[in-house]
Amino acid sequence: MADRPIHPDLHGHCLCKSVEYTVTNHEEPFFIAPFDVVACHCDNCRRSAGAPFQVFLPNVPVARVQFREKVPGAYKTYSSSEEAERGFCGECGTTLSFRVKRLTSVSLTVCSMENPNDFVPRDEIFGIQRLRWIERLFSSGILNVWERWRHTPDRKLMNQQHVIADHSSSRT
Ligand SMILES: [Zn+2]
Ligand SMILES: [Zn+2]
Repeated sequence: MADRPIHPDLHGHCLCKSVEYTVTNHEEPFFIAPFDVVACHCDNCRRSAGAPFQVFLPNVPVARVQFREKVPGAYKTYSSSEEAERGFCGECGTTLSFRVKRLTSVSLTVCSMENPNDFVPRDEIFGIQRLRWIERLFSSGILNVWERWRHTPDRKLMNQQHVIADHSSSRT
């Protein structure tokens, strides 16, 4: 059995898996942990993901990234400004990438990676636009609603749509 590369290739996909990607890294490694991972709080990142912020693996050479479409044309780009475009899955809407058009590198969304836990943000950008409630989100215990519901099912505890349906079982 072949040894696992010290710096394995990186893999990712959108929610519906119509778009998958691989970042070649096992030969002439480009990414060597700890990776340079950034959280961006800018309004454009927030809106394009419909999320409080986005986390990116930046500066990935475009030549290292191979996008594969299971549905032809599924990987789409949107010009969010004259300078930049954002890649996403046209089938399920997952945000996958951000690229400054004049550069030959791309940023990949860490949460579309197979193992987001491997990519720990070390820097923040546009912190001035950071939502005011984010710190409370991670310090007050409000994220424990799911645990409370699981042990004491109370249908009033929170919106059933968000508790019962359509969530990955890996969240626990
Ligand atoms: Zn998709
Ligand atoms: Zn941003």
